[in-house]
Amino acid sequence: MDTDPKDAFNALMAESRNTVIFTGAGMSTESGIPDFRSPGGVWTQNKPIPFQDFIMSREARLETWRRKFNVEKTMRDAKPNIGHLAVAHMVAHGQVEKIITQNIDGLHQASGVPESKIIELHGNTTYARCLSCHRRHELGPIRTTFQRDETLPVCEACGGIVKTATISFGQPMPEREMLEAQRDAISCDLFIAIGSSLVVFPAATLLPLAKENGAKLVILNREKTDFDGLADLAIHAEIGDFLANLPNPTY
Ligand code: NAD
Repeated sequence: MDTDPKDAFNALMAESRNTVIFTGAGMSTESGIPDFRSPGGVWTQNKPIPFQDFIMSREARLETWRRKFNVEKTMRDAKPNIGHLAVAHMVAHGQVEKIITQNIDGLHQASGVPESKIIELHGNTTYARCLSCHRRHELGPIRTTFQRDETLPVCEACGGIVKTATISFGQPMPEREMLEAQRDAISCDLFIAIGSSLVVFPAATLLPLAKENGAKLVILNREKTDFDGLADLAIHAEIGDFLANLPNPTY
């Protein structure tokens, strides 16, 4: 008889001394934020604007901010879902050491996970930064002036271009976060990927890195992924339902 995936998940968690969770957009669909690649996802509606275009073209910057403020309310209204809360519970009880996320929505923080336990590989869309001096800018004042007459935000400190604090296609990965994520992938003994199609690189390289360095690998995703064959346990289920209904965990 096949082992129930929930029991198999619990057994791997019980054995582990150092678990890392890696999350993607699927983690937040139950909070009402569409993912990229599911039907109706962001990808199917808007082609991403590459970083170089954002830098070089005023029109691309205008279009980026128009799109941002079209979807901002969804992002602002989103609350952590039961999946986020289950993960936060695991962190609070010392069962999970670190969350490495591709998400830009800040919902792991909102679910109560301390900032020190979260690595954001693709930045955060709930605020903006100057691309030259890296000063943080809040979205409220940018929204007010942009929605009035499409004034593009400029850094008052240095005159630099201001962009949401996310990593766009073609933009270099944040060095410190990537190094820290690689270190955690190498040192963990259980790496759990949740809600990611695992087609965005270099983030997805963390899975083989963890596996090559001796970690057990779990993938929890509605659809199959190209890494399922590498996994010790590949679970095809809804994230919230799966994580919030684990039977009597002993870890
Ligand atoms: P993706 O859209 O490529 O893949 C999401 C995966 O999650 C899909 O395979 C889908 O089947 C699965 N999924 C969706 N909802 C699920 C659910 N409730 N239960 C189980 N599985 C579910 O996302 P990705 O791999 O994270 O790559 C997309 C990129 O886009 C990331 O780099 C991320 O930065 C960005 N993004 C972020 C957000 C966010 O912050 N919430 C949203 C959209 C895109």
